[in-house]
Amino acid sequence: MSTPDCLFCRIVAGEIPATVVRETATTLAFRDIDPKAPVHVLVIPKEHYADVATLGQGDPALAGEVLATAAAVAEDEGLLGDGFRLLFNTGAYGGQEVFHAHAHLLGGAPLGPMLA
Ligand code: 5GP
Ligand code: ZN
Repeated sequence: MSTPDCLFCRIVAGEIPATVVRETATTLAFRDIDPKAPVHVLVIPKEHYADVATLGQGDPALAGEVLATAAAVAEDEGLLGDGFRLLFNTGAYGGQEVFHAHAHLLGGAPLGPMLA
């Protein structure tokens, strides 16, 4: 179900522009507006889930499709050899700001230790 006041639902609906790098029937991948690495792509389910916990429990197959899209984008962006980071910020302690589940795909340079 689409949530009208959700930023990423509005991107899915085409109401807000985004630089889309891959689209499937159920997922969308687009460049982050404020990139934290040379490659910074957000991968989302088109259907609204608030975070990866509700997505993973509510529709595990869709969660898997998000991962498959992220892997395809990683390949397209030439990240498979050197590696990359895929992360889901979740909830207040996780630093989540947009409450539509999204994976951050980060790469293109050494990212350093996760918790530095
Ligand atoms: P979070 O902190 O929720 O995990 O990450 C939200 C991400 O969405 C941030 O990295 C932020 O830069 C990105 N973002 C916020 N607004 C927009 C937007 O309108 N378009 C795009 N492409 N990315 C956005
Ligand atoms: Zn949404």
